[in-house]
Amino acid sequence: MPQPPRDPYLLTPGPLTTSASVKAAMLHDWGSRDREFIATNRRLRERLVALAGTEDTHVCVPLQGSGTFVVEATVGTLVPADGRLLVLVNGAYGRRIARMCEYYGRAHTILETSEDLPNDPSAVDQALARDESITHVAVVHCETTSGILNPVEAIATVTASHRRELIIDAMSAFGAIALDARKAPFAALTASSNKCLQGVPGMGFAIIRKATLEGCEGNAPSLSLDLYDQWKAMEANAQWRFTPPTHVIVAFHQALDEHEQEGGVSGRGARYRRNCEILMHGMREMGFVSLLPDELQAPIILTFHMPADPKFNFKHFYDRLNRRGFVIYPGKLTVADSFRIGCIGDLGETEMRAALAAIGKTIDEMGVTHCGPKPSETVTA
Ligand SMILES: *Cc1c(COP(=O)(O)O)cnc(C)c1O
Repeated sequence: MPQPPRDPYLLTPGPLTTSASVKAAMLHDWGSRDREFIATNRRLRERLVALAGTEDTHVCVPLQGSGTFVVEATVGTLVPADGRLLVLVNGAYGRRIARMCEYYGRAHTILETSEDLPNDPSAVDQALARDESITHVAVVHCETTSGILNPVEAIATVTASHRRELIIDAMSAFGAIALDARKAPFAALTASSNKCLQGVPGMGFAIIRKATLEGCEGNAPSLSLDLYDQWKAMEANAQWRFTPPTHVIVAFHQALDEHEQEGGVSGRGARYRRNCEILMHGMREMGFVSLLPDELQAPIILTFHMPADPKFNFKHFYDRLNRRGFVIYPGKLTVADSFRIGCIGDLGETEMRAALAAIGKTIDEMGVTHCGPKPSETVTA
């Protein structure tokens, strides 16, 4: 019998490759009132608040579902019916927050920059000075659409100076890119089990300033996405309101052990930065051109322009890489035709080099000789 092929390496924005020990942590069943499970859940919440460096001021409210669920729950719970959210958009995740406001009938103002440019703190300053009705600001730390790093600390400073509340979607940054809550004061930060923290997908969490959350009763237009209610219930009886994702929680706890063993945020961030450098260097050597200059690139996911060579067909490229055991991701940019390669998850230097070798073989097989884009696509104003 041939060896079964290994699981594919997920070079995507999620779901991501997890360690064998994280997967193994799920090989049991727990009742939601099981004492050991309750202790794990409590410990998990404490560890997440500590990771944010906000033990004294904030609480962790976990929520079932993918990351979007907790972002939507946070917007719905924090922004009251008579509030207004300033949404900073430079990609699909910022745009998604604006859509949430539309669904909930929450007044919002969009401040949009191009997908290859970071949010502009001075524009936020002006918008807040101009419009007294804005109560909250939403920013995406790493906009995973392109992989761009937004200047969250500068935006937090500006938002605080105008005495407005900040919501940070740190989904694809938390655990790998440092965020100092003293320099970047926030009302709420959202992330999930499965990005840089390398648990399995299935739950998100919000780190919310306790004093803020206490005033949020009755804001949420949705029962299952009411984080005030979720928090109150969990404080009262240590239970999730509805069926908890027990296996996800226990695997997440194991993933946090591994995060700590790797050296926490700085250790994890260092591995991802190394992964990013190896990938970027290797791709450029083959002639691929990245969307972002290095100073705007977060070590999370890399966007490359689609090669202009007529022999290059993305579907074939994708399928052949898949057969070799590497899953990449199509782009969803409006500024350029592109594809993405992630560098997070339980993968390191060896896997990055293997991915580059597979990409090299694949373009050779396809007969592609020029991996750069049409000249017009890289010209920036
Ligand atoms: C992944 C991600 C989300 C959540 O996406 P889900 O598919 O719902 O898990 C939200 N914001 C950002 C920036 C992300 O990268």
